[in-house]
Amino acid sequence: MIRFTVSTIALACAAFGVSAAAAQTAPATAKPAAQPSSKPTVAEADAYVAEAEKTLAADGVDAARMAWVNATYITDDTDALAAKSGAKSTDLAVQYALGAAKYATLPGLSFDTQRKLNLLRGGLTLPAPTRAGASEELSTLTTKMSSAYGKGKGTLDGKPINGSDIEAAMGESRDPAKLKEMWISWNDNVGAPMRGDYAKMTAISNEGARELGYKDVGALWRSGYDMKPDAFAALTDKIWLEVEPLYKALHTYARWKLNAKYGDAVQSKTGPIRSDLLGNMWAQEWGNIYDIVAPAGAGDVGYDTGELLKAKGYDPVKMVKQGEAFYSSLGFPALPGTFWERSQIVKPADREVICHASAWDVDNVDDLRIKMCTKVNADDFVTIHHELGHNYYQRAYNKQPFLYKNGANDGFHEAIGDTVALSITPNYLVKIGLLDQAKVPSPDKDIGLLLRQAMDKVAFLPFGLLIDKWRWGVFSGEIPTTGYQGAWDKLRLQYQGIVPPVARDETKFDAGAKYHIPAAVPYTRYFLARVLQFQFYKAACDQAGWKGPLHRCSFFDNKAVGTKLNAMLSMGQSKPWPDALQVFTGSREMSGKALVEYFAPLKAWLDVQNKGKPQGW
Ligand SMILES: [Zn+2]
Repeated sequence: MIRFTVSTIALACAAFGVSAAAAQTAPATAKPAAQPSSKPTVAEADAYVAEAEKTLAADGVDAARMAWVNATYITDDTDALAAKSGAKSTDLAVQYALGAAKYATLPGLSFDTQRKLNLLRGGLTLPAPTRAGASEELSTLTTKMSSAYGKGKGTLDGKPINGSDIEAAMGESRDPAKLKEMWISWNDNVGAPMRGDYAKMTAISNEGARELGYKDVGALWRSGYDMKPDAFAALTDKIWLEVEPLYKALHTYARWKLNAKYGDAVQSKTGPIRSDLLGNMWAQEWGNIYDIVAPAGAGDVGYDTGELLKAKGYDPVKMVKQGEAFYSSLGFPALPGTFWERSQIVKPADREVICHASAWDVDNVDDLRIKMCTKVNADDFVTIHHELGHNYYQRAYNKQPFLYKNGANDGFHEAIGDTVALSITPNYLVKIGLLDQAKVPSPDKDIGLLLRQAMDKVAFLPFGLLIDKWRWGVFSGEIPTTGYQGAWDKLRLQYQGIVPPVARDETKFDAGAKYHIPAAVPYTRYFLARVLQFQFYKAACDQAGWKGPLHRCSFFDNKAVGTKLNAMLSMGQSKPWPDALQVFTGSREMSGKALVEYFAPLKAWLDVQNKGKPQGW
């Protein structure tokens, strides 16, 4: 997506395509292309959609090229050019959203015209109202907050420390006093000052959402899921209830291990976990403290993928080729020659670039690229499979009309590559010649492998859910401006079972100290992606006839799986997501059940460890 800056922090990546849904805040200044007449007709609506697709597609290619040049060659000039082209694109998106809102209520529209009008109408993340000055005000507020976040600093040992360094230090430090200092300073310095601006931004964008016919911005965001906004919220609650027992078991076990390491004065045996002890500024993923929770004996799985890659002489390009080979083994055609010519696979030595991993579809056909600063290690090997998932999705739907060139919903796009990455099992590493058969960990090491996965993927679930629960409440007014902090702490306690290391009050704004809040990036997609990747993975393993424990399955080299996967991917966004889900999995329901099955051996093990210990908080 154009100009769609996604966190450089902790979460995977952004997929860049020429999607109309890319627009962020939108200065609604330019003249609408063809606004509806006073008595619009169905034929006019059809023509309007056709014109919108043509214009947005053409504009999108230019904008994507501009964004690419900017991201891979940062100078004042490319910044200015990219900002200008981005503003033009958002202008266009606003015009078409407003027009679409008027046509969308016409009786007798065809399925496709109705669907495309809804996509146009709901494509903006933060719509500005049309009254004079509002879009400029909104744009100023969001730029100010994003830039304050980007420049934000905490302290460590009393000295200033920037965002990426403090994030790394939160993962490495095992000193509770230092962790507390970093946590408090970051939240106080970055979050609290933007509290007033956030309230203003909320009010203005809500006004814009109402002009487009939505109750508020939260309802606009929830409208992108082919169901009523309230029904979608209920669906996320249902999924949470499916995975909650697994999370609670992990929480109980992690609390016990933290208590054993730090003692009662730092982490009590009961109640919530102190959030700065979990190896991550937001306690969103806990993999960084795996060393604290690793079980004796089974904790060390006996190999490190990064070391294997280095030992076999892999360089970044060879790693990407290996990623491509997985998709080829499923029957997907090889990546185009231009992918290898145009991608940024390693960090250029001579200029500033955005290293944050992303996948691009510049011309909306087959000008696919990834942008990474790849290092030869296990994390980047997984990231490559993730990014390529976006690229193969983009190419699979390249014959769809412009407005359908997108994931079935935003969770799908993020889930595809992760589904493939779940197949990077020890036996897969043997098949591709990286691991010796003799070194394949015995089944008694499975708990270590699963626990390491769960510390990131399971620990994330309540966090992935509550970010937008908080925002939905803020946008709807259920959470008043005077209650931002209290509501945030309450949700963190209710879902994650964590507490801040010191008491907070309403002069604070800890939500603002998480990138996606000031940057206004909807977050539920990440929750959905975590759940969907296991659903897709289980479906693939079932199709491959896998009979063993789910987490040991790899569907590498299975053409039948590839054919079915392609059938779902090639639909793009042309049909409601349950249709797409059904094509690949046979089910129309997003569900956490496959995730629960994947981690079932771990859950059984955790239950034994947790026996006699208080559960919950
Ligand atoms: Zn991604």
